Amino acid sequence: MTIHVHVLGTAQDGGFPHAGCACAHCEHARENPLLRRKVSCIAVVGETGKCLVVDATPDFATQLADLAKASGRETVGLEALILTHAHIGHYLGLAMLGKEAMSAQGVPVHCTASMRRFLEQNRPWSHLIDRDEIRIEPLGPGEMLSFDGAEIHPFLTPHRGEDTDTIGVEIRGPSRTLIYVSDADVFPPALAARIEDADVALIDGTFYARDELPHREILEVRHPFVTESVERFANARGDVYFIHLNHTNALLSPEPPALPDGFRVAREGDAFAL
Ligand SMILES: [Zn+2]
Ligand SMILES: [Zn+2]
Ligand SMILES: [Zn+2]
Repeated sequence: MTIHVHVLGTAQDGGFPHAGCACAHCEHARENPLLRRKVSCIAVVGETGKCLVVDATPDFATQLADLAKASGRETVGLEALILTHAHIGHYLGLAMLGKEAMSAQGVPVHCTASMRRFLEQNRPWSHLIDRDEIRIEPLGPGEMLSFDGAEIHPFLTPHRGEDTDTIGVEIRGPSRTLIYVSDADVFPPALAARIEDADVALIDGTFYARDELPHREILEVRHPFVTESVERFANARGDVYFIHLNHTNALLSPEPPALPDGFRVAREGDAFAL
């Protein structure tokens, strides 16, 4: 079986529509469920059908079911998780592995040392560890995780680190490489080079343009702008997909702006053979 990466969600941490927001984009998505988006998440389905999910989002329950359908497996489950960082869109779903829901047994959770400390030192996450529902497996930048025929290489990304650092992942199959960077304040040269070299790049497209939020807010929550990334990565070798879209993003409007050739907006259901 070929290794596949499936896209299970494409919105920023707060999902789409956003809680408590009555902006035109959110209202439109409330009226039309087809426009709704789950929080950014991808899954790797390996050569024997094992599943690894990158990030446990607030939409975890639905995304596991979506994954079961996409991967053709009969039971809804997973063999491993990677957590990229401790912002709410990326780890809250972990709670579903606890005894109130799945009562998981020793699911390996791969994360950096700072993410591990965060989980060990805060409830309810520490309960999951104490009850052996999850088992923390250290995975630092520069290390490599072999998973069912795929090689997964994590790397640090510059991102607001109130509680933990943040990683992105490069996933290598026998023939192609995919890079996933949901959150980065900026794309420094080394990260830009990875994006340009990948066969498929799923990159931070939180904000479309600089004027999307009031100036003060956009300085506090930094992300590269789609309008700038399309220029910067015009010579990327593979296809570039924007993911982790904020509800304010023009790409979520009823009439979204067109993107240049080679650039797309990631969709739930996208699948890439590696
Ligand atoms: Zn995020
Ligand atoms: Zn909104
Ligand atoms: Zn974040």
